Amino acid sequence: MLNSIWSGFLKHYENGPDKTPIVLSALKQLKPLGLTEDEIELGCENSGLRIYLDKRRQSIEKSLSIVLKKKTKIKLTLIEPRSKKDAGPLLSYQPSMQDVFHRAGLHNKYRFDNFAVSSTNQVAHAAAQAVAQSPGNSYNPLFFYGGVGVGKTHLAQAVGRTILEKDHEKKVFFCPGDQFTNELIEGIRERTTMKFRKKYRYLDLLIVDDIQFIAGKEAVQEEFFHTFNSVVSAGGQIILTSDRPLSAIKNLEDRLRSRFSGGLMVDVQQPDFELRTAIILIKAREKNIELDINAARIIAEQVSDVRALEGSLLSIYAQTLGKKEGIDLDVVEAYFQEKKDAKPNHKIGQGDIMRAVCSFYNIRPSHLKSASRSESVSFPRHIIMYLLRTELKLKFEEIAYILKRKDHTTIMHGVDKISGLIIKNPTIKEEVGRIISSLTSST
Ligand code: ADP
Ligand code: MG
Repeated sequence: MLNSIWSGFLKHYENGPDKTPIVLSALKQLKPLGLTEDEIELGCENSGLRIYLDKRRQSIEKSLSIVLKKKTKIKLTLIEPRSKKDAGPLLSYQPSMQDVFHRAGLHNKYRFDNFAVSSTNQVAHAAAQAVAQSPGNSYNPLFFYGGVGVGKTHLAQAVGRTILEKDHEKKVFFCPGDQFTNELIEGIRERTTMKFRKKYRYLDLLIVDDIQFIAGKEAVQEEFFHTFNSVVSAGGQIILTSDRPLSAIKNLEDRLRSRFSGGLMVDVQQPDFELRTAIILIKAREKNIELDINAARIIAEQVSDVRALEGSLLSIYAQTLGKKEGIDLDVVEAYFQEKKDAKPNHKIGQGDIMRAVCSFYNIRPSHLKSASRSESVSFPRHIIMYLLRTELKLKFEEIAYILKRKDHTTIMHGVDKISGLIIKNPTIKEEVGRIISSLTSST
């Protein structure tokens, strides 16, 4: 009822005389929450949008009152983006299906139909399709590896979704690697491991995203080994993702290593320019942002990190709010020019570096300052040492203090190690380059 009133209004507005494209696209992003005699409550996912609409309240209320044939006000309520389960087109799924996806840990934004394919990811895409069509029969496990933002999570989720769409009785579960770890540790502490096992061992599809997290943790690996065997022997499918190739996951038990390599391992590469252009066009369409292809190309050219693409798109969009024209070449060029000009003035802080590195390597900031020497923590820690030294020119003693290391020789050692690796290893060089560019582009 509420939804149909609102979508009815949108249709009228779209065809009416007062229509402006930006207001329309902003209105389309709202979620109707409630209706009283004289007021309709609308959920709004970001405060920028709310401010924008608030300024246009009068004309919106006027149109609304005309369509509803009585005086009607609007109430704009800020809502959590996460709690909005259906990011997709309004009402395209039954609520119960939404619950099914939600319980399986799947998000609406990751689907096959909004995944762009190019040479860098076509093998991964084909393998994902094959597994989605015939889980448990083709490649088991399917193992995706590759850098941050190349679409591993997106593909793995799309498989889970497809399987559930075909048969929502299937037991599908998407689990981030650190969640698996935490749940198990909690299970051991609370003596509820049976519950844990019941949850994981009888699945038709288990996806563990960022499996590298379980390395170095004995009890977790042991449990995962049994989970793996149990799922596979019952005909279930396993999909794993990792930010690095299997050979580069240190401290992984041999028996897991051999299980993992028994299926298909696919390298998902950094998206090329064409793919980045396609991705940004997809993201714009999903957010109802009008973006012409030339503007999309410039953004894709300037921003090589896929996760930063979306951020840039939103920042550029924000600049066009309230203006008549949408995102065109001028707006995009002005945005990047302004950024270039602003760069020397903007000071990157140590917090920015820590955050960038943690997000790149998927670790928690608290781990950096811990005593942990596991490779998954010590390597990012060395990268931070290197960046604090080269980007901020901090003294070794200062870096030691920040990272809670005992003395400055540890830091010298870390900085040297990374400097050496950058010369020898092109992958590391590229990783560090990407972190630095994320620092300068996200600020
Ligand atoms: P990863 O898990 O490899 O770090 P994600 O799957 O989280 O990467 O992808 C990062 C973002 O980029 C997501 O918003 C995702 O939807 C988007 N993305 C990545 N690759 C593609 C693609 N080929 N087509 C559409 N969107 C993509
Ligand atoms: Mg991921």
